Amino acid sequence: AELPADPSEINTPRQVEQACFSYVVPKQPSNPSLIHASAEVANLLGLSEEDTLSADFLNTFSGNTVYPGTKPYALSYAGHQFGNWAGQLGDGRAINLTEVNHANKSYTLQLKGAGPTPYSRTADGFAVLRSSIREYLCAEAMHYLGIPTTRSLSLMLSGDQVLRDVLYNGNPAYEKGAIVCRVAPSFIRFGSFELFSSRKDLVNLKLLADFTIKHHFPQIIEEGIKKYLAFFQEVTNTTLKMIVEWQRVGFVHGVMNTDNMSIHGITIDYGPYGWLEDYNSNWTPNTTDREHKRYRFGNQPEIALWNLYQLANALYPLIEDAKPLEAILDAFSADYEKEYLNMMQNKLGFQIKREHDIVLIQSLTQLLERVETDMTIFFRNLSNVTKADNGSTAFNTIKDAFYNEKDLDETILKNWHDWLENYSIRINEEIRSDSERKNKMNKVNPKYVLRNYMAQLCIDDADKGDFSLLNELFEMLKNPYSEQPNLQKWFAKRPDWARDKVGCSM
Ligand code: AMP
Ligand code: MG
Ligand code: MG
Repeated sequence: AELPADPSEINTPRQVEQACFSYVVPKQPSNPSLIHASAEVANLLGLSEEDTLSADFLNTFSGNTVYPGTKPYALSYAGHQFGNWAGQLGDGRAINLTEVNHANKSYTLQLKGAGPTPYSRTADGFAVLRSSIREYLCAEAMHYLGIPTTRSLSLMLSGDQVLRDVLYNGNPAYEKGAIVCRVAPSFIRFGSFELFSSRKDLVNLKLLADFTIKHHFPQIIEEGIKKYLAFFQEVTNTTLKMIVEWQRVGFVHGVMNTDNMSIHGITIDYGPYGWLEDYNSNWTPNTTDREHKRYRFGNQPEIALWNLYQLANALYPLIEDAKPLEAILDAFSADYEKEYLNMMQNKLGFQIKREHDIVLIQSLTQLLERVETDMTIFFRNLSNVTKADNGSTAFNTIKDAFYNEKDLDETILKNWHDWLENYSIRINEEIRSDSERKNKMNKVNPKYVLRNYMAQLCIDDADKGDFSLLNELFEMLKNPYSEQPNLQKWFAKRPDWARDKVGCSM
């Protein structure tokens, strides 16, 4: 790592050569206050719920004081953004505080929005309340859905105003500044390796790879070239699994740049993400990607593979043999199809796995695209179809999922009846009872996801200083598969006012 000779230079934006990170000091917030802390994440780190209410906690995780004995740092990394090489990026508004070992696990604690770093480029290093709430809530929601992700420890207000280029009535818009502390095994990204490879800095490329494997992939026992191949295989496997999980719940990341791809195969960097409401594989929540839709729902597996190619290229100098890397990449698509099929069979409640199920699945996803159909409600309600149902009785069970029943013309209606008829024939091949199948389905088809409008309502309240909805949503999203009948109002289609409204990331 580098430490500038002149301490006043410490957070100045610059190109940083031959270093994985730079020491930085968080900016002291003018009036920090805790909005929310995750008791469960605190426990992972060896902290109690009471600890999260202490002055130490407030000071440490708002960036007000540097915890004794720690040396915060920002990571340097590069990346491909929207398919184009972007050069050095780095933690522009993220500051790693320290690593914590607890109960045989190690965690890196990182503040997001705690001020500029050498990697801030032209931006300010801060985060607004709106984007911080979205990140804080969604990471925990993903975790409780069973999806690999960074975790959220705390959400704080900085007490400072942050200027964003959103203009109301032509006036500059100030927003409340906020700081999230997020937690992960590490924040090393595909782009961390691309940085050194692009600079032909093989010494640091090797140092980073060896460090990463030693500390974060202890299961890799191979040596030499095989060690790096095993690492790449592992990243490929976990990335593939993560994408299957995103597709299962209808999560669209929105900015799958290589600098936003964790080498742990965990979901990272919650920016303009969104959840499918009506099932539409062409949908992206990212308004800057509306033309090419590179990061649309249906393209996420392809993009993961594209990103893995970039990682393979970056690791190539350590391996100097393209064949085994290509073999791993070549297997991705077929492996993905297998995992995807298995995931969809589970969503449909099939314990007996039939090769032919792919036909039923494909006809379903085609049908779901025809008219606006709520993905979450459809799969959740499908678990109520019974072996005794026929096409038309089953239709009554799922018809709440359609945004506008008038969209269903005679042909589509007939297609639905046919599909549901086939589905009911298929579940009659199952040994499991209706209620057993329903139980299993309800464990993979969530009832509650963080729909964009929920986050928006919560943000609007929070902006006025009312955090009760944030608390309510946080608790609800801890049990996304449970019925929670008192929260039934959130098991509903997106209201009309929220159509085409998407969240903002900055
Ligand atoms: P993202 O699109 O959020 O993944 O960010 C891409 C790059 O821009 C990363 O290097 C970020 O750290 C940086 N960045 C994003 N927002 C800010 C900000 N407000 N201040 C400084 N750097 C930022
Ligand atoms: Mg990022
Ligand atoms: Mg971001």
